[in-house]
Amino acid sequence: MPRRLVFFVLLCYNIRMNKPDYNKKMKELMQQAGQGERLLLHSCCGPCSSRCLEALKDRFSVTVFYYNPNITDRAEYEKRKGEQLRLLRETGWADFMECDYTPEAFFAATKGLENEREGGARCYRCYAIRLERTAAAARANGYEWFCSTLSVSPHKNAAWLNELGEKMEKQYGVRWLYNDFKKENGYLRSVQLAEEHKLYRQNYCGCIFSDWTKQK
Ligand code: SF4
Repeated sequence: MPRRLVFFVLLCYNIRMNKPDYNKKMKELMQQAGQGERLLLHSCCGPCSSRCLEALKDRFSVTVFYYNPNITDRAEYEKRKGEQLRLLRETGWADFMECDYTPEAFFAATKGLENEREGGARCYRCYAIRLERTAAAARANGYEWFCSTLSVSPHKNAAWLNELGEKMEKQYGVRWLYNDFKKENGYLRSVQLAEEHKLYRQNYCGCIFSDWTKQK
């Protein structure tokens, strides 16, 4: 095998071996957490939250925090929120904390990044405003932990989400529960649960830019 190829293969192997395993880290933290400690879970929608709630509900006392200023319009926002509430009514897996709908916060945070591809710099800012608001609400309401459902999607960057969570933990003094909910067939499980509960599953991520991309 040519030397360059050997070097490349070893490099890829090394990167893979050194990649943090956020799912493993979540399980370790869950072992350390006291039974019934309070966790504020940022949720983007009912279907994504289903798998995350299933994984967390037996360890934590969970409250869903539905803060999503990225969503295209009020009607879509309310539709997703309604499905989130229905899932919670049907399962009893968590409480719900009301939040406001502030699309202006999303547009201000992502200004200049409108043409970014999905998964790019615009999404990083979109994650950041939602996680920051969750961390602030967790602190204000005396939660021990905070977390987000976003990593259940194969389109979301778990490394970015955990990097942001770590940063907010330091800033707000509430513990971030590292996670990568898509692991162990997590995404597939969210699809199954959404089917079981007949939840509405949107066909675009949330913002107007992701809607346009889908339509194209
Ligand atoms: S594609 Fe999704 S994560 Fe990215 S900016 Fe739009 S709503 Fe946010």
